[in-house]
Amino acid sequence: MADPLKRLVGELARLPGIGPKTAARLAHHLLRVPESQARELAAAIVEVKEKLFHCSRCHAITAVDPCSICTDPRRDATRICVVEEPFNIAPIERTGEYHGLYHVLLGALAPQRGVGPDELRIASLLERLDGVEEIVLATNPSVEGEATALYLARLLRGRVAHLTRLAFGLPVGGDIEYADEVTLGRSFAGRREIS
Ligand code: ZN
Repeated sequence: MADPLKRLVGELARLPGIGPKTAARLAHHLLRVPESQARELAAAIVEVKEKLFHCSRCHAITAVDPCSICTDPRRDATRICVVEEPFNIAPIERTGEYHGLYHVLLGALAPQRGVGPDELRIASLLERLDGVEEIVLATNPSVEGEATALYLARLLRGRVAHLTRLAFGLPVGGDIEYADEVTLGRSFAGRREIS
C-alpha cells in the first residue's frame, strides 16, 4: 500500500467501531471523491477541534462557556440529569419531557478497562448540588451504565431530596441514543425514585 493511503487507513482504523477492513473501504472511497469534498471533511474535523470544547459546568460539548443549557434561565435548575456522554443529551431534549440541567460524566464505570470513579466527572457533580432537588440518573441501561447509576445512587443518597432512575422500557444493553423518542420520553415521564 502506498504510504499516504496507509496513513489514512491507519488514522481511520483508530476511530471507534471502524475495523481495518472498513478503514480500507473508507480510505478508497475518499480517494475517489472530488478533492473539494475531501477538503470539506478535513476542515470539518479541524473546526470541531478548534471551536468546540467541554462546558466547564456540565461537560457538554459547546462553543461558549458555560453552555447554552447551563445559562438558560428558563431551565429548571433544581434538576440535574446525569448522562454518560455529551451525545446522550440531544435524544433526551427531543423527548420534550425534561427541562432541567445536565451533567455529563464522560464515560461509565468499567473497572476491567481501568475506568474508575476518578476517571469520570463525579467530583464536579458533587460541587453542583446546592439548590438541587432531583438528580435523574440517565446512564445507559447496560451493565456499565447500571453499575454507574448504582455507584452514584450510593454516593448521592441523603444529599438530594429525590434520586430517580429512568423507568424500564429502554432496551437492556442498548444505549440511550438508540432509543426512539417515544420510548425515551416514556421512560423519562415514568422515572422512579431509587429507594
Ligand atoms: Zn453546560
